Amino acid sequence: MHERAGRLAAALAAAGAGRGARVALLLRNDIEFLEASLAVAATGANPVPINTAWTAPEVAHVLADSGPLLVVVHTEFVGVVEGALDIAGATTGVVEAAMPPELLAEAGLDAALARPTGRHRLLEDLIAAEPRPLGQVEGAIADSMGLIYTSGTTGRPKGVLRERLTAEQLLSIAGATATRMGLTPQAEVLVAGPLYHTSPNAVAVLALRMGASITVMPRFDPRRFLDHVQRYRITQAKVVPTMLSRLLSLPAEVRAGYDVSSLTHLIHSSAPCPPAVKRAAIEWFGSAVREFYGCTEAGTITWIDAEEWLAHPGSVGRPADGSAVVVADAAGHPLPPGEIGDVYVRGADYWPDFHYLNRTGGHDGPVPGRLCVGDTGYLDEDGFLHLTGRSAEIIIRGGVNIHPAEIEHAIMAIPAVEDVAVFGIPDADLGETVAAHIVPRPGATLTPAGIAGALRERLAKFKHPTTIRIVASLPRDDAGKLRKQSLRAEYAPGPG
Ligand code: ATP
Repeated sequence: MHERAGRLAAALAAAGAGRGARVALLLRNDIEFLEASLAVAATGANPVPINTAWTAPEVAHVLADSGPLLVVVHTEFVGVVEGALDIAGATTGVVEAAMPPELLAEAGLDAALARPTGRHRLLEDLIAAEPRPLGQVEGAIADSMGLIYTSGTTGRPKGVLRERLTAEQLLSIAGATATRMGLTPQAEVLVAGPLYHTSPNAVAVLALRMGASITVMPRFDPRRFLDHVQRYRITQAKVVPTMLSRLLSLPAEVRAGYDVSSLTHLIHSSAPCPPAVKRAAIEWFGSAVREFYGCTEAGTITWIDAEEWLAHPGSVGRPADGSAVVVADAAGHPLPPGEIGDVYVRGADYWPDFHYLNRTGGHDGPVPGRLCVGDTGYLDEDGFLHLTGRSAEIIIRGGVNIHPAEIEHAIMAIPAVEDVAVFGIPDADLGETVAAHIVPRPGATLTPAGIAGALRERLAKFKHPTTIRIVASLPRDDAGKLRKQSLRAEYAPGPG
């Protein structure tokens, strides 16, 4: 892999990749993704990973915003990239990676995808034509970490520029994270999430750097996940809460059939984990269950292990080494334990002079040296952080703030509920009222009246959803993040 990535790096450098340049990656979860990321990083250029679920207009936004020198794309997504380049009016060079036939079969995809379109240079040809790997370019590691896009939960994805990070800082962050994750050369790491997301990507690259073995899943499937854990004696796995729910939805006899005792770190992050799911995961996987809370701008902010969580249910933990958390009111005054406010953070990986690409402001808040990432929550008496939602998603009903997470937790505690989204919808009288979309567990039946009845004893009346819909699925991305904007859009007053 090192050899192939080095030769690809030499080819990319010959095409102009280097400090300040960007190379977009629209690739499936496989070895080529990692080879391409390492190759781009070795030249000092920024890899710009792109979400494979995005449509051409969404890809066009990131291509226009980041202005890449090249796009490396799997045959499967060539159509999307060509469409996006048309929309963006760009003539960026395209390098195509055809899918290995065995991966296609495993992913259940059409064998035609193994045949390149013939319209672009091929990744394999670039590697084959290069006689020598590129040597390490000085400072390349830090330069290549310079640009990462946020998920776009609250709007369009923002490019986070981190230009002042030094190689020493980066290696110290990497070392602390590797220790936290128990990564050693003997580790067997399972990467279940998409490599275009920061955290699975960081886990994969870190595991490689530590000399561990990694198994990358082309896409998540609960039975295959357990199969891999058992077969490869997996020690570390990185998941998101939706994956935990899907694992827990397997019949009990199926779950009991797998030996998962090798797992020492089953780490989840990226989206809120409903307490009922977390508790059931701890019952199954024990102290292997660990969580961190972080964001693109600040990296890892807090960590929590299973024992701490059982003592502080619902918390996302205490600040990791070098991080800090303050919960403050709108004026920036810190709030006492138990009071909900905006969460301000300083990540161990955060340095004050980061900025957003092609945007002004966005992170300046009233708490000096702390970044406001748009989450709300409170600290408990022991300094453990509890999140209550995104500030943009707070429901203001008749002037009273309602935190969706509290209502979501109450609904998730109803046994037949698999998933839920609570959000505000316009109301002529109160400004906003509460709506809930609820997904039942497979085979279970739920009714809005039944839900309303169950909530009567659990929540104050003003928090009860006035609109309850039973739906087949919710708009979640691969990181398990809910796209509440698209739910709210269904209720927006139409023209006229
Ligand atoms: P955008 O900034 O574009 O709207 P985003 O905020 O989802 O998108 P990311 O940086 O990818 O961008 O995600 C960070 C957010 O993910 C956090 O601010 C938080 O809301 C959520 N998050 C991360 N980890 C956890 C966790 N353990 N529990 C709850 N929420 C989490």
